[in-house]
Amino acid sequence: MNLILLSPHDLTDDGHVCVTDPRRLAHLREVHRATPGDLLTVGIQGGPMGKALLTELSAERALFKLDTLDQPPPPPLPVHLVLALPRPRMLARTLEHVTALGVKEITLLHTKRVEKSYWQSPELRADKIHQHLVLGLEQARDTQLPNVTLSKGFRPFLEQQLPHLLNDRRGLVAHPGMPNACPRDIKTPTLLLVGPEGGFIDWEVEQLLTAGCEGMHLGLRILRVETAVTALLSRLF
Ligand code: SAM
Repeated sequence: MNLILLSPHDLTDDGHVCVTDPRRLAHLREVHRATPGDLLTVGIQGGPMGKALLTELSAERALFKLDTLDQPPPPPLPVHLVLALPRPRMLARTLEHVTALGVKEITLLHTKRVEKSYWQSPELRADKIHQHLVLGLEQARDTQLPNVTLSKGFRPFLEQQLPHLLNDRRGLVAHPGMPNACPRDIKTPTLLLVGPEGGFIDWEVEQLLTAGCEGMHLGLRILRVETAVTALLSRLF
């Protein structure tokens, strides 16, 4: 937690904050080893970042007085990530990583090789997804939550969503064996599609290319989803 992310519920009155949840309290004590009088880095969810003075820390609550709130969060990456739904633990880690890297639009997509049971996972509950996003923001010092949408059918995605998404974005499908290498250091708004653990099937790749996406690869090594996404985002932006 490189930033104490404050939600509107944490603000008690103009300029004061009360944190009561056990996770942040434990982190303040055990990782920050914070004591009253410390000036800590805070950010308001969806708003600016700055410093707050810790005035009290007990097992039940931490009280802060806001000091400065004059820094904007870092700029987002110009990317909408479409991720074939990975297994729940991998999803949790991937959401955290991509949030830390600055992705603000995420679509979780069903494809042929996504296990249907993954859609029933508790990790897809709104509160669970929110938790992973918050961890990513706290890690990276950011306050803007990504928007996560679920797209449970490949064909409806292809026919109804993809044309709009490609209106003002360059579509890139990461798929091993494609003739072109992943581009580097691009600035253009991008739609990045990453396959499931078993990969996209040929038909899906053909449909995505026909719709206007470009295929690309990351080299000969086949990477796990969470590694591939991190490598792709780093290389692209
Ligand atoms: N056996 C699968 C295949 O060949 O497609 C491997 C899938 S990989 C574990 C999961 C996803 O990560 C892939 O669908 C792709 O989007 C991305 N990926 C992993 N390694 C890649 C590489 N070397 N080039 C391009 N994409 C890669």
